[in-house]
Amino acid sequence: MKQFDSIEDFSSKISKPLITEQEIAQAVKRAAKAIDDIYDGSPILLVSILKGAFVFMSDVCKAVTVPCKVDFMCAKSYFESTESSGHVQIIMDLKQDIAGCHVVILEDIVDTGRTLALIMKMLKIRNPKSLRVITLLDKPSRRLVDFQADLSLFTIPDHFVIGYGLDYGEYYRNLPYIAEYKESEK
Ligand code: 5GP
Repeated sequence: MKQFDSIEDFSSKISKPLITEQEIAQAVKRAAKAIDDIYDGSPILLVSILKGAFVFMSDVCKAVTVPCKVDFMCAKSYFESTESSGHVQIIMDLKQDIAGCHVVILEDIVDTGRTLALIMKMLKIRNPKSLRVITLLDKPSRRLVDFQADLSLFTIPDHFVIGYGLDYGEYYRNLPYIAEYKESEK
């Protein structure tokens, strides 16, 4: 395995769940209800920010009842580490025009705020009918630019977290819960 000595080493880096599967499932229901209440039957476009928000998107889109389309953008700021590079790259844009659409961005985690600040700036000028952000996780203590989601489901302290779509070096996205990534002790 790439950066792990063994399966034991791989597993030893996962803390006990910080947010359980049940807590995530309840939060997904809350997000879907907020969407259904706000848009009240109007069609929406759900936009997932890849890769981290792909699991969140999958659960939220199954739980909403308003007519919905999905699309994806891919942003990158962490390069196989637990520290942001500080430079956000948009490596895949939306496939559709959003002019006149109600757009709801689903994000895995807001950390420095740089990714969402950039994406909001890019999408606002395309004249959507409305533009909102729902984030699963929020680390407000890490914010470097002024950005606040319309709905944050969990506020967490400054820990590097994995699971439910979130990775370390592309691994751990398939954990069904959120845990802390524990660096090996030196
Ligand atoms: P921001 O631009 O707000 O600093 O960072 C947003 C992106 O950084 C997230 O979409 C996510 O991909 C990544 N990120 C920030 N904090 C964490 C974390 O604790 N764990 C993981 N796996 N990714 C994170």
